[in-house]
Amino acid sequence: MMSAREALKRLREGNRRFATEARSADSLTSQARRTEVAAGQEPFAVILGCSDSRVPVELVFDQGLGDLFVIRVAGNIIAPSLVGSVEFAAERFGTRLVVVLGHSRCGAVLATLEQLQRPTRGGSPNLNSIVDRVRPSMEELLATDLRNDPEALVKHAVRANIRASASHLRHGSYVIEELIPSEGLLVVGAEYSLETGLVDFFDGVPEGY
Ligand SMILES: [Zn+2]
Repeated sequence: MMSAREALKRLREGNRRFATEARSADSLTSQARRTEVAAGQEPFAVILGCSDSRVPVELVFDQGLGDLFVIRVAGNIIAPSLVGSVEFAAERFGTRLVVVLGHSRCGAVLATLEQLQRPTRGGSPNLNSIVDRVRPSMEELLATDLRNDPEALVKHAVRANIRASASHLRHGSYVIEELIPSEGLLVVGAEYSLETGLVDFFDGVPEGY
């Protein structure tokens, strides 16, 4: 089983390869690798990412078959089934690193800010269930001077949304809460830059990691 520290190192190295176009993905999706993982999986990290088509998780971390347990949902929000998916991977496969991966200019964040600043009635209840989960951290930001600076507001909002999801994962599940001290499970928040291709692990990374 790979430690959270080692897993984080692997993700950082893979992302660097992706951003510098030194990808190794071909070998990681080979037929040999497929045969190897058919019998069982031992993903070294769980990634809860946004569904945005520009942030395909395996690609941006230059990983292949069997490496990552990926959960994707618009706005990288937290809902019970998503928490359950993280619990499943952590318990079943012993995965010790969980990353909430948001990204710059996230559409779900933009839509929520828009809805808060110019409320409209109605809309799909299913879509609203996403906006409702992003909303609380946005409301806090809109109560500050950031509301007068649209660009800075979006930047802060993306990170606030990632922090909120990571915090929810750390404290919203007794399974995960238990695995943190007993097994060294680590939940971190990270932002992918659509512009540079780089991932910044900015939340919950212990000193020296
Ligand atoms: Zn997004």
